[in-house]
Amino acid sequence: MKKILVLFLLILCLSVAFYFYVDTNDPEISWGVGDNESINAPLKIKIADDLGLKEVCYTLSGGSCVDKKQCFVDIPDRSFDLVIEPEKCAQNAEPFKIEVAVDVVDSSLIANKVHDKIELTFDDQAPNLATLDGTRSLKRGGAGVVLYEVGEHPAETGIVLDDLIFRAFAFDQNKYLSFYVHPFYVDSDDFKPRVFARDKAGNTRKIRPGSRTASYTYPSVVIELTDDFLNVVQEKMMEDSSKTPLEAFVQINDIVRKENYRVIEAQCQNTVTQKLWEGAFLRNLGTTKANFAEYRTYMYRSAVVSRQVHTGIDIAGINNTEILAANHGKVVFTGEIGIYGNVVILDHGYGIHSLYGHLNQIDVQEGDMVKKGAPIAVSGETGLAFGDHLHFEIRINGIPVNPIEWFDDVWVKTNIDRFLPKD
Ligand SMILES: [Zn+2]
Repeated sequence: MKKILVLFLLILCLSVAFYFYVDTNDPEISWGVGDNESINAPLKIKIADDLGLKEVCYTLSGGSCVDKKQCFVDIPDRSFDLVIEPEKCAQNAEPFKIEVAVDVVDSSLIANKVHDKIELTFDDQAPNLATLDGTRSLKRGGAGVVLYEVGEHPAETGIVLDDLIFRAFAFDQNKYLSFYVHPFYVDSDDFKPRVFARDKAGNTRKIRPGSRTASYTYPSVVIELTDDFLNVVQEKMMEDSSKTPLEAFVQINDIVRKENYRVIEAQCQNTVTQKLWEGAFLRNLGTTKANFAEYRTYMYRSAVVSRQVHTGIDIAGINNTEILAANHGKVVFTGEIGIYGNVVILDHGYGIHSLYGHLNQIDVQEGDMVKKGAPIAVSGETGLAFGDHLHFEIRINGIPVNPIEWFDDVWVKTNIDRFLPKD
């Protein structure tokens, strides 16, 4: 009987010991980076175990570091941050490969051991960056191009302006060109575009594109909203609305407009890495009824109810007139976009698009290649339009620019075309 009791107590003690001092799970190593990645800062490796950690050792090999084992013992917590500083192994400013090997033993009575390693490139030098050529001067609302060279293959490059990034297109080994815009809504003093290149380790260099910019004042107009006008807008664009005609107008002009811009910006991401246009852009015939970047204040019964900026030019000719492609390009969008009515968007390459709005009829299909001057549509007054006219825009990287520059053969030659690589 006594023997059985002793045996029982022994089993109980062993079970308790097993429960508290033995675990069967291996310690976990979370590297925080993937194998063969590049880093430019100390590496923080998270090591954890269900029961506890007895010993964490590591070795570094690469650069000036050769396999010297370092250990931490009797770690009080169940997790441990192992901080590795590859920078200490640097011999010069050049990037170097480094292997980090980690050995972990947990504090289980029957110890679990883990060995793992990772190979990384340590690089804390930003890529070299130099401009080659490009537009000398821009003006507010206008565009330019810069050609530049990066000292290594970048993970990301382009032009950054506040929260905008203008795409870059490779045209030769490590050589890029990028079109950029001084947006009409940015003051000249705040216009600070930077060519940037970021490497895989996250090191970024930024330089000025080497252009100057000039201020430019666009016209302002006051638009008086009449009840007749508001009724027509509501009838045309918001048939079953419980809103008053004024509320309907404000919603269309402010909220729907913004949604429409997002659709257009998204369509303008669709572009070819190639110059499709040739020379100046063709201006469809007719009278200019509204200018680019015209600042509009909408008044109703002597109160300001909305403010907007016109992102293109309005050209009114004969009703239901043939609309011609402004330049060679590819049709990337046909369809209805809210206030724009029926729209055609053409891609002219390198992120440059032309847009035709308020169309009555569309005569091309997405994917079609069109020549400069080819008929693509028929004008109308679909969307938020009163009277038959063409709303025409040129966008770069989705940002509307002053089309007047692009209608001007001399401007296109001296500010854009002469810098572009000949194909
Ligand atoms: Zn317009």
